[in-house]
Amino acid sequence: MSTSESRVFLIPLDTSETDDRTAFSLETVLAHRAYHLMEAFSDSELVGVKLPYIEDKNQLNADLTILKALVNSLRKAGKNPFVCDTSSRHIDKKANAVEHMEIYHRKGISYETAGASFAMLDGISGGYEFVDTSPVDKSKVFLAGELPNIDGLIIFSTPSPSGSSCCKGSIFNMGIGLASRKGKIQLYSKSGPQVNAKQCYLCRKCIYICPCGAISRGEKHVIINYDKCINCGKCVDLTRFGGISYKWDTSRDEFMRKMHLNARSVQNLMGKRLLFCHLIKKSHYSGDIPCNSEEFSFKQAVLVSRDPVAIDQATMDLFSEDPGFDPGFNSESLDQAVEMGLGKRKFKLIPIAY
Ligand code: SF4
Ligand code: SF4
Repeated sequence: MSTSESRVFLIPLDTSETDDRTAFSLETVLAHRAYHLMEAFSDSELVGVKLPYIEDKNQLNADLTILKALVNSLRKAGKNPFVCDTSSRHIDKKANAVEHMEIYHRKGISYETAGASFAMLDGISGGYEFVDTSPVDKSKVFLAGELPNIDGLIIFSTPSPSGSSCCKGSIFNMGIGLASRKGKIQLYSKSGPQVNAKQCYLCRKCIYICPCGAISRGEKHVIINYDKCINCGKCVDLTRFGGISYKWDTSRDEFMRKMHLNARSVQNLMGKRLLFCHLIKKSHYSGDIPCNSEEFSFKQAVLVSRDPVAIDQATMDLFSEDPGFDPGFNSESLDQAVEMGLGKRKFKLIPIAY
């Protein structure tokens, strides 16, 4: 293999085969000494498997089988694996660790089904963060607070072919999924928190909770001083009746750049102790785009790589088999990822069948 290309292993998902067979193939690939995949964690002990974004509507049967195969592979390699995630960016059903666990409980994610215990990487309400300096442009990057304390991560993603942003694969899961609450907010909101005058009844709670003294009492509603505001989101979390809310107004270009900067910081922090796994299933193709999944023609597969750009590129190439998928914007996005040193777009696809 040329050093200008990265390896991406592909285990086809044939719907006639059982999930157990796919899991067996995945564990075999990961344990294979010639493939050097587990070498990512040679000096690691505590290795997390970072979950993809999971909602109530997701079907998780195959995902759990693959998740458990990743955990089993780490355990067999003598590691101490755990399953992990971070809070979502704003008030919804996963805004804190407690709500997170409730969803996982409803979806059947437990020690038995995942094979390991679960830990939040950003504290009980998403506020536990590690502030890093970007190795790319020296800007501040806000990541989950536990990242410096763990020894390695498998980034487990369930990409879907969304033509509007990116493939929601490894770079997305690192750049957004491992940001702290503040980091996530800054990805999506340029203008910061906004007071909704009609919904503020001047209870003053947000004035007390703001860590920067950025909120003061106005005549009819509170006022935010943007020179002091650090965009932490605490006031928005507090004002459940909408007195303060976010405008999600970051442009697509800014969003992608920040996502790549975050992902590059995670990579810089973790060094080589990262591995990437994609589960590509038609049932993940929902949410952004209303669809009848029967119409889509891309291959279903499990992909594994040590290169987040290569695995995202391989995923988009698979999605491109679907005539309804427009990869135009995504292509530019991966060029930026390469420029920032996240990995290589050129890859060698290694099909595996056991
Ligand atoms: S924005 Fe909400 S929390 Fe702040 S004073 Fe108004 S009602 Fe109270
Ligand atoms: S986002 Fe944070 S810093 Fe800004 S006003 Fe709200 S609580 Fe204060």
